[in-house]
Amino acid sequence: MIPPIASRFVAGETPAAAFDHVREANEDGVKVILNLLGEHYHDREDADADAEAYVSLLRDIGNTDLDACVSVKPSQLGIDIGADVFREHYRRVVEAGDEHGVFVWCDMEDADTTDATLDAFEGLAREFGGGVGLCVQANLRRTREDLARLVDVPGKIRLVKGAYDEPESIAYTDKADVNEAYREDLEFLFKEREAGIAVGSHDPKMISLAGELSAEYGADYEVQMLMGVREDEQRRLAAEGVETWQYAPYGDKWLSYFYRRLRERKENALFALRAVAGV
Ligand code: FAD
Repeated sequence: MIPPIASRFVAGETPAAAFDHVREANEDGVKVILNLLGEHYHDREDADADAEAYVSLLRDIGNTDLDACVSVKPSQLGIDIGADVFREHYRRVVEAGDEHGVFVWCDMEDADTTDATLDAFEGLAREFGGGVGLCVQANLRRTREDLARLVDVPGKIRLVKGAYDEPESIAYTDKADVNEAYREDLEFLFKEREAGIAVGSHDPKMISLAGELSAEYGADYEVQMLMGVREDEQRRLAAEGVETWQYAPYGDKWLSYFYRRLRERKENALFALRAVAGV
């Protein structure tokens, strides 16, 4: 069972628990992106099992009236085993999403996987004509070119700052440079795309910039934040009419995800300490 201290960031261990979480968030107008926890598989059976779990999840979401979709990780669909294994599983999941009318996002992981992830996404997005979205990372120097390549590709693009430590040769490593790249990439997206823009950030500055750019260029956008982070703001944005999605992980591999959330920010660690101390 997930201890209450971790359940701020994780929607439960089972799809049923995750659906309860979705229902509650939907009542506040916040839509939910479900991610089955699991990554960096080196055994094909693990990747097979997660692909099948997503297929069932997509069918189950399709049978409800919940505002939910999914986001997969390339390394849980087998990219570390082989790009062909990833492509096969990704296609299977996207086919299920298409069959059940549920959107399928793909996270972006470390830079060694960017090309294979982009290629697979572009092929499926063009073939299915939408219903899929890809995360791109502003900290990578290559991202502007990748965005130019994706301009007329159907589906959605989630712009994030980037969670992986990459070398200076391929990435901006200074926070101010990453923020500047994020702003420029966001402006590029609003200038070039008519729809399908997702702001994957908790940063108030980036979220208000998206509002300004949308007013200037006319393109619609959505905001995406993690479960357990700035949830009041998620509800406020949704109440204001901004399409707001919460990325909510679930599953039995919650421990390492929980530690990552604690490590990345002082506020999260303080929250955990207060919960332990009962204050
Ligand atoms: P930061 O630059 O960390 O912070 C900027 C400001 O935001 C802070 O000054 C503060 O005002 C506010 N803020 C940030 N965190 C908090 C907090 N915990 N509490 C209160 N205020 C806060 N990365 C990838 O590499 N690949 C992915 O596929 C991916 N998917 C993601 C999906 C979603 C929905 C989100 C939200 C993030 C995803 N990320 C992904 C992570 C992303 O790359 C960043 O590492 C992460 O979001 C931190 O950057 P930030 O823009 O949120 O804000």
